[in-house]
Amino acid sequence: MTERETMDFDVVIVGGGPAGLATAIHLANLVERHNQEVEKTGQGEPLAPEVVLIEKAKEIGAHAISGAVLDPKGLDQLLPGWRQMDPKPPLEAEVHEDYVLWLTETGGLRLPVTPPALRNHGNHVVSLNRLVRWLGQIAEVKGIQIFPEFPGARLTRQGSVVQGVQLADMGLDKQGQPKSNHQPGAILRAKLTVLAEGSRGSMTKQLVQDLGLQGRNPMVYAIGVKEVWEVPAGQCPPGLVVHTMGYPLKGDTFGGGWIYGMGKAEDGQHNLVSIGLVVGLDYRDPALDPHRQFQRMKLNPKVRRFLEGGRMVSYGAKSLPEGGLYGMPRLYGDGFLIAGDAGGFMNSMRLKGIHLALRSGMLAAETVFEALKKGDFSAATTKAYDERFRADWSHAEMRTARNFHQGFHKGLLHGLANAGFATLFGGRGFLWQDEMVSKAGHTYMQTLAAYHGGTKPKAEKLPEDGKLTFDKLTDVYSSGTKHEEDQPCHLVVADTDLCSNRCTVEYGNPCQHFCPAAVYEMVAKDGGGLKLQINASNCVHCKTCDIMDPYQIINWVTPEGGGGPSYQYL
Ligand SMILES: Cc1cc2nc3c(=O)[nH]c(=O)nc-3n(C[C@H](O)[C@H](O)[C@H](O)COP(=O)(O)OP(=O)(O)OC[C@H]3O[C@@H](n4cnc5c(N)ncnc54)[C@H](O)[C@@H]3O)c2cc1C
Ligand code: SF4
Repeated sequence: MTERETMDFDVVIVGGGPAGLATAIHLANLVERHNQEVEKTGQGEPLAPEVVLIEKAKEIGAHAISGAVLDPKGLDQLLPGWRQMDPKPPLEAEVHEDYVLWLTETGGLRLPVTPPALRNHGNHVVSLNRLVRWLGQIAEVKGIQIFPEFPGARLTRQGSVVQGVQLADMGLDKQGQPKSNHQPGAILRAKLTVLAEGSRGSMTKQLVQDLGLQGRNPMVYAIGVKEVWEVPAGQCPPGLVVHTMGYPLKGDTFGGGWIYGMGKAEDGQHNLVSIGLVVGLDYRDPALDPHRQFQRMKLNPKVRRFLEGGRMVSYGAKSLPEGGLYGMPRLYGDGFLIAGDAGGFMNSMRLKGIHLALRSGMLAAETVFEALKKGDFSAATTKAYDERFRADWSHAEMRTARNFHQGFHKGLLHGLANAGFATLFGGRGFLWQDEMVSKAGHTYMQTLAAYHGGTKPKAEKLPEDGKLTFDKLTDVYSSGTKHEEDQPCHLVVADTDLCSNRCTVEYGNPCQHFCPAAVYEMVAKDGGGLKLQINASNCVHCKTCDIMDPYQIINWVTPEGGGGPSYQYL
C-alpha cells in the first residue's frame, strides 16, 4: 500500500478562481514590497513564505464559468494599470448599451428605464475562464506554485484548528479499491488555509457545519445555465448587455436571463454571444427544470433574434450564492479564511461577484501577510479579515443588496417592489426591515401533491431541437466534461431506497429535473418499480443537487483531479 505523503507549506489556497488567484497575487506583491523595504532600511526580517494554490480542474480556468459583466473596481485595486499589462487582459468588449426586456411567451417589452443595479456603462463583458487563465499566468510569474488537478478532499483539523488540506485519492476503482495507478492524496500541511472554492465549496460546507459558522440566515443559492453562441457579426454587437425578466419563469420563481455581446469569434466573421438563465434554488415546483426553462427562453422571438443563423459552441452550469450579507458565514477562524463565493461574496441584485471575489482575496491576502509577520495564525489574528471587510467598499456594496433575494420568497412582484424599496432606502427591505430572514432554499420546494395536485406534468419535446434548443446530453457534450469512469461515485447519496420509495411519490425525483447535466435518472428496477442511476461522468460540478435535494441526502465530494468540465469562452 502506498504511503500518504505529507508536504509542508505556509499557506495553502484552495481554488484557482478570481478569489484564490487574487489572494495569491496580492500576497506575492505584499511580500515583495515588504522585502524591498527590509533591504532598503535594514529593519525587520524578510519573508519567504511557501505558498501553493490548488485547483481541481485539469488547468486553471477549465472550471470557471460566469455571465459575465465585470465591474473593473476589483482589478483596479489588485493590478493598477491592468489594462496596459502584458499579456493583455482578455476583455471581450466595453459595455456600450444596456436594457431590460420583460418577456412574455410570444414576445416582450423593453423597459423604458434600466434599474440602477443593472446599469453597466463602464463595465466590461468578459469570459471568466479567459480572465482566470490570465490571472493564473500573472500569479505564476510572481512565483506562486499552482497545482491544477489537485482537488482538496477534506480539511485536516485538530478540533477547530485547520491544519491544511488532504487531496483526493487517485486510482481507486468504483468500489474504492486501489488500482495499479493508485496514489493516496497527499496532505498539504499549512499554517493558514484560504478556502476560495467557489459557490457551495465542499470543504467549506463541511467546515461551516462542523464549527457552526453559518451567519444569521442560511445561505441560499441560484443556478445559472449558460451557452455561448457564434452568430453573424452585428447581430448581437460586442458590448450589448440585455437582462430579461418574466417568461419562462413563473411568478413564484426567482430568476432572469441575460444576453451579452462578446468579442469576435476565432474566424473573425462572427461574434460570440453569452446567453443564460439564472433560477433561484428556492423554487416551489418540484418538476421545475432550469435547463429546460433556459431552452424555452431561447424560443421567445425577442431572444431568438440574437441567435438566428448562429451555432452553439459551448455550454456550462453553475450555482451562485444569493443569500447576501446575512447569509455569509463567519469568514475566519484558527488557521483558515474563507474568500469569494465560498464566503458568499456576491451581489445578487447586480448579478456580480467577480469584483467582490477579487477584493475578498485581497483582504484575505493582507490578513495572511499580517499573520506571517506575527507568526500567529490563530483566530486572534485572522479576525482582522472580518474587520477589514467591514471597513471596506465591498461590505458597503453588499449592505445595499442585503435584503434583495429574501424579497422574492413571496413571489416576483413582491421581490421587485422590495428591490425598488431597497434601492431607495439603502438596502432596507419592505416596511424598513433592516434584516429580512430566509430559510434554506430546498425547504421551499413543495410536494407533487401540493404543487401539481399529485400528477407530475409531462415534459414535451421542445421545437427546433438540435438547432436552437438542445437536450441536456448535447449541451453536456459542448461543455467538454470528462471524468475517469472507474472511480468511486463523487455524488454520495446517503439513502437510495428513499429515492425509489418516498421521493418518487412525494416529489417525483426532482434530481432528474434540477440537474443540468442528466446525471440522475430513475430507471426500471428488476421486479418492478424504479431505482436511481447516477451518470456521474456527466457532472459539470454545479453543486445544484447538493443544494436543492429536498431530503438533503446528496453530498457532492471532489472526484479525481482533472475530472469535470473543460470550459471554453464561459
Ligand atoms: C451563471 C453565472 C453568472 C454570473 N454572472 C456574473 C457577472 O456577470 N458578473 C460578475 O461579476 N459575476 C457574475 N457571477 C458570479 C461570479 O462568477 C462569481 O462571483 C465568481 O466567479 C466567484 O469567484 P470565486 O473565485 O470565489 O469562485 P469560482 O470562480 O467558482 O472559483 C472557484 C475555483 O475553485 C475550484 N475548486 C472548488 N473546490 C475545490 C477543491 N475542493 N479543491 C480544489 N479546487 C477547488 C473550482 O474548480 C474553481 O476553479 C456569475 C456566476 C454565475 C454562476
Ligand atoms: S450531479 Fe449535481 S453537481 Fe453534478 S451537474 Fe448534476 S446537479 Fe450539478
